[in-house]
Amino acid sequence: MSRAIIAFGANLGDREATIASAIRALADADGVELVRVSPVYESVAIKDTGVDHEAPGYLNGVVAVDTTLEPHALLDLLLRIEADHGRVRTEHWGDRTLDLDLLDVDGLVVDDERLTLPHPRAWQRAFVLAPWLDVDPDASITGRGSVRDLLAAATDEVTRR
Ligand code: ATP
Ligand code: CA
Ligand code: CA
Repeated sequence: MSRAIIAFGANLGDREATIASAIRALADADGVELVRVSPVYESVAIKDTGVDHEAPGYLNGVVAVDTTLEPHALLDLLLRIEADHGRVRTEHWGDRTLDLDLLDVDGLVVDDERLTLPHPRAWQRAFVLAPWLDVDPDASITGRGSVRDLLAAATDEVTRR
């Protein structure tokens, strides 16, 4: 059994409904047990060109799950739930109905063509670190430090809803 931390984000459509439905799908999946759900945060969209105040804002959060799934199988499940909720990939970091990122699986280090763990950009994103700290105040990122310290150093804007 592994403890996995999953980030969710949505900036298109009925964001609350999508997030609620995605968390339900995760909780209902074979081999996955929902442990904790963070409060929801709001953040401004970030594009390749930087912060985009014109784009619809994001709702973000984190869930902790216990799972018997191997990390790649868990990633496949996340991608399937995204697709089921209308996720379409066009531009890099484009607007999306749902994004599910695997942040961490028991501190495991993975780096192949499909999966990188810990998530390579989580350490610098307040919109991920703030809800992660809520579900696990003692969390740390392999090779980066404690989530608490990383959040204090992060510069992007995030507000508790
Ligand atoms: P970012 O990774 O910067 O948050 P993104 O979420 O917009 O950007 P996506 O288009 O959702 O990126 O994902 C592209 C690919 O990243 C996925 O198809 C997946 O194979 C790969 N990937 C690698 N590591 C991870 C991970 N830890 N969590 C989620 N996807 C990952
Ligand atoms: Ca992402
Ligand atoms: Ca993603």
